Amino acid sequence: MENETVSKNFIEQIIDKDIKEGKCKEVVTRFPPEPNGYLHIGHAKSILLNYGLAKEYGGRFNMRFDDTNPTKEKVEFVDSIKKDVEWLGAKWNGDVLFASGYFQQMYEAAVKLIKKGKAYVCDLSPEEIREYRGTLTEPGKESPYRNRSIEENLALFEDMKNGKFADGEKVLRAKIDMASPNINMRDPIIYRVAHISHHRTGDKWCIYPMYDFAHPIEDAIEGVTHSICTLEFEDHRPLYDWVVRELEYENPPKQIEFAKLYLTNVVTGKRYIKRLVEDGVVDGWDDPRLVSIAALRRRGFTPESIKMFVDLVGVTKAQGSVEYPMLEYCIREDLKLKAKRMMAILDPVKLVIDNYPEDQVEYMEVSNNQENPEMGTRMVPFTRELYIEREDFMEEPPKKYFRLFPGNEVRLMNAYFVTCTDFVKDENGKVVEIHCTYDPATKGGNFTERKVKGTIHWVSASKGVKAEVRLYENIVDEEKGVYNEEDGSININPNSLTVIKDCYLEPELENAVVGDRFQFVRNGYFCVDNKDSKEGSPIFNRIVSLKSSFKLPNK
Ligand code: ATP
Ligand code: MG
Repeated sequence: MENETVSKNFIEQIIDKDIKEGKCKEVVTRFPPEPNGYLHIGHAKSILLNYGLAKEYGGRFNMRFDDTNPTKEKVEFVDSIKKDVEWLGAKWNGDVLFASGYFQQMYEAAVKLIKKGKAYVCDLSPEEIREYRGTLTEPGKESPYRNRSIEENLALFEDMKNGKFADGEKVLRAKIDMASPNINMRDPIIYRVAHISHHRTGDKWCIYPMYDFAHPIEDAIEGVTHSICTLEFEDHRPLYDWVVRELEYENPPKQIEFAKLYLTNVVTGKRYIKRLVEDGVVDGWDDPRLVSIAALRRRGFTPESIKMFVDLVGVTKAQGSVEYPMLEYCIREDLKLKAKRMMAILDPVKLVIDNYPEDQVEYMEVSNNQENPEMGTRMVPFTRELYIEREDFMEEPPKKYFRLFPGNEVRLMNAYFVTCTDFVKDENGKVVEIHCTYDPATKGGNFTERKVKGTIHWVSASKGVKAEVRLYENIVDEEKGVYNEEDGSININPNSLTVIKDCYLEPELENAVVGDRFQFVRNGYFCVDNKDSKEGSPIFNRIVSLKSSFKLPNK
């Protein structure tokens, strides 16, 4: 990578310019989630972008909850969001901040606007306000309350604050321009009456600021220099700028928009996930088939892999959608040299070596990761009876099948060559036992005097441990597409979860704990499930298979 010229994204270019022109001394960014749900992969992009910029420029990154709408917000989400941001490795400056901590300042800011003749109390009903607003092609109409005197506005706003009005009876509006081509500028509501308890301020307030008024104030109070948000706020930027200008902040923050991250064939919308949870299609917001950060963590993704993914996607203004296999590519890359490569049999059938001593246990030295010798070796017990994968034996093999079949010799990975001699079926014709003989001269996997074309993995039947393994596919039926056109529901893939109860694993895996990740040779990367595992009986989730359809451009 030494010769690679690192090209800066458009946000870095803006920051560089601001620094050069002396407009910005210290870069301050923030992540401003509304605590009304769990974070997903798209939020991870925003978190890592904001944190990454602060780090790159030696500045500050604030963690601030945008809790100005008490109807939808819960403490539960505050806690889960903090945990997710920490897990991603984004370190915020000082304490966690809350927009509700600035309610007093926001109130004073509203009073300031009233005093400047830039805000007024309006008695129109919500329906009338909508009607008066006009459309994209027609200008709006001025409210009959628009020209109230400053004194009257101050008194009415005070009454709003003191609970004299019912919800919806009166609002405070910015006095901007009802003929503006930008609807957001047609005297937007900046304060509303809502007699609801807030999860932090309780019943102290019965008026709450609107997002477009509150957000720039929050940024300005914190000294945020670059307020990064997603494209849907582009049309709100003139209002953002109006607020910080009219409130006369000395070093006003600058809003910059970038494109949201979308994954093809993946559900991220809260509304849809909520329904999947309520309908019991998934076992919670952290179901490993979802892409909430909690789900990705439970599935076994690492923070490093998510960072790699976000970096690969890049930051742009152009909306697009990224393929899920790119995320899979990142976790494979991350685990390739880190994860121990173990033997695990997911669909076991017994293999008996008839000429191997009955009570003998041999410990085979096995490399933990052939591509990373520093990871050392381990000793794996080998016995007369083993389990192998059912698909590694065929009674009547097709051409080019090089694994076990009657008369064929294969290599047992890290152990001996064996030749299939016989097999046993049950009354239904299912193979229940395969017999073979081994050649003691072939021990250790490096035997070269004779060649075999197939290598299969195994686990000792008496020394191995039984465990549950869960395999996943996309919860969405990709052939049908995400949404059912008729009723707008999700097209569910009925095979998205496979639970296998009786897998056999190398004995060492019995002691695996939450946070451990392994490669199970030939079967993929796995992690210990963080919800259902018990001490001494871990359950393993497949993070990703080993095969990839994804190719990095330019590689
Ligand atoms: P959603 O509706 O998907 O839950 P949201 O925009 O309502 O998302 P917020 O809590 O308001 O969620 O967002 C916090 C921050 O995360 C905002 O700055 C927002 O722009 C950003 N964000 C949300 N979704 C994405 C996404 N898909 N890609 C990148 N950033 C996102
Ligand atoms: Mg939101």
